Amino acid sequence: MKYVSTRGHEAKLGFSEILLEGLAADGGLYMPESYPKVTREQLDQWRHLSYADLAYEVLSLYCDDIPSDDLRQILRKTYTAEVYCNGRSADNANDITPIHWLGDEQGTRVGLLSLSNGPTLAFKDMAMQLLGHLFEYTLAKRGQELNILGATSGDTGSAAEYAMRGKKGVRVFMLSPHGKMSPFQVAQMYSLQDPNIINIAIEGVFDDAQDIVKAVSNDLTFKARQKIGTVNSINWARVVAQVVYYFKGYLAATTSSEQKVSFCVPSGNFGNVCAGHIARMMGLPIEKLVVATNENDVLDEFFKTGVYRARKSAETFHTSSPSMDISKASNFERFIYDLLDHDGARVKQMFKDVDTLGGFDLAADPVFKKVASYGFVSGRSTHQNRLETIRDVHGKYSVLIDTHTADGVRVARDYLQSNIPMLVLETALPIKFAETIAEAIGRLPDRPASFVGIEDQPQRVMVMAADVQAVKSLIEEHTGL
Ligand SMILES: *Cc1c(COP(=O)(O)O)cnc(C)c1O
Repeated sequence: MKYVSTRGHEAKLGFSEILLEGLAADGGLYMPESYPKVTREQLDQWRHLSYADLAYEVLSLYCDDIPSDDLRQILRKTYTAEVYCNGRSADNANDITPIHWLGDEQGTRVGLLSLSNGPTLAFKDMAMQLLGHLFEYTLAKRGQELNILGATSGDTGSAAEYAMRGKKGVRVFMLSPHGKMSPFQVAQMYSLQDPNIINIAIEGVFDDAQDIVKAVSNDLTFKARQKIGTVNSINWARVVAQVVYYFKGYLAATTSSEQKVSFCVPSGNFGNVCAGHIARMMGLPIEKLVVATNENDVLDEFFKTGVYRARKSAETFHTSSPSMDISKASNFERFIYDLLDHDGARVKQMFKDVDTLGGFDLAADPVFKKVASYGFVSGRSTHQNRLETIRDVHGKYSVLIDTHTADGVRVARDYLQSNIPMLVLETALPIKFAETIAEAIGRLPDRPASFVGIEDQPQRVMVMAADVQAVKSLIEEHTGL
C-alpha cells in the first residue's frame, strides 16, 4: 500500500515512511492510494476475533512494510485488555471497547461504544497507544530518535504522554497553559515521573503555548537538528487505528454481516468520524454517519449547507465539551479529497481558499450530493442540551456520560431509524469533565480507583515564560544535539 498527498504531489510513500511525518511536502495530508475492500465473508470470519487480532486484520491491509509477525506482536502489546485497561475493570475482560446498550428508543437499539478504557480515560488513547509502540519500533529499526513537541489544553497532551512514556528513542516536550487546566488534568500529566516526558507550563493561555510550538516548528534548521516531530490528529496512523473500532462495534452489534449499523460521532477535527467514513468505504455496512458538533458548528454547517466556513479564533466558543472547540477541522481535507474523486489540484485550491478567503462553497456543486450517498448527516448541541442529555440518560438508564458523549447522544436521537442500531461513540469518561456533570445531576461523578488521590502525587513540571528562545534552549539541554 502506497500513500499519496491530498494535494497531488506525485511522491508515493510507504506506511513506515509517513508514520513519523506530519504534513506531506506540498502541505497536503497523506491518504492511501485506494481503500482495500473487505467482503461480507471476511467480516464473518472476523466476527469473533479479539480487538488486537481484529486490529491486525485491518492494519495489515494498510501497512505492508512491517513484517506480519512484528505487526501482530505490536498490536497485542497495545490492545490486550489487561495492558490497555491497566487493571481497571472493563466489564468484559476480553473486550477493550464493549458496547453499553442504553435501551430502545423509537424502535431502535441505542448503545454507547465505549472507547475510554485506556490510561487517560478518553478515546484518543485508542490510537495514541498504538502510535507509541509503532514509533518505538520504527525508530529502533532506523537508529533514529524523535523529539515530540506539542501544546495542549488537556486531552491530547495527556494521551500523548501516556503513550510515549518510557518508549526508547522518543522524548515528549509538552507545553500547557500554567494554571488553566483542571487539577485532575494537571495531576494526570504532571505526575508522570518518566525522564522522557518533559512538562512545560507556559505563563500564558493555550494560544501562547501553541504559538511557541509553531515558531519552533517554523525554524526548519532547529527542527531538523533537534529531530522535532508531532503526534497531531492529522497523522495517518492515528486515523487508521481508529478504523478498527468501527469494525469491532459493528460486529458486536450484529449477528450477520447483512445487517446495518449507524454511528454517531462527537466531532472536532474530523479524525474520528473520518475513520468511520474509511471503514464504510472499505465495505463495512454502515447506514448513517452522524456528525455531532457543539456550538463550534463548522462541520454541522457544511453537512447541512455545503458551505465550509472556518472560524477565526475569536469566533471559537469555549464550551463544556472543550475537546470539540475547533475553528477548522484539520482532517476534513481527507474527506474532501474523496468527495472530489482524488482531484489533488482542486483540493489544493480549495484549502488555499480556506487560508485566504476563509472557506469554500460546494452548495451548487454536483459533488455535494455524494455527501448523502456516503451516509453523512449532522447536528449540533448546546451547553443546555448537554446538561439535559446527561440528566436524561442518567435518569432513564442509570448511566453517566461525559459532555462530549452527550453531544453525540443528543444529535443521534434526531436520526434514529427503526431496526438499525445506533452506536454513539463514547469519547471520554465523565470524571474528566466533573464540574459540568455536577451542574447536570447535582453530584460529582465517581472516580476510577486508580485515579483516587492523584492530585496528591508529586508533580514534575517546569514553569516558564512564554518565550520561544527559552523553550528552544530547554530542548537543546535535554537532547544534547
Ligand atoms: C478529541 C476529542 C473529540 C473530537 O475528536 P476528533 O477526532 O477531533 O473529531 C471528541 N471528544 C473528546 C473527548 C476528544 O478528546
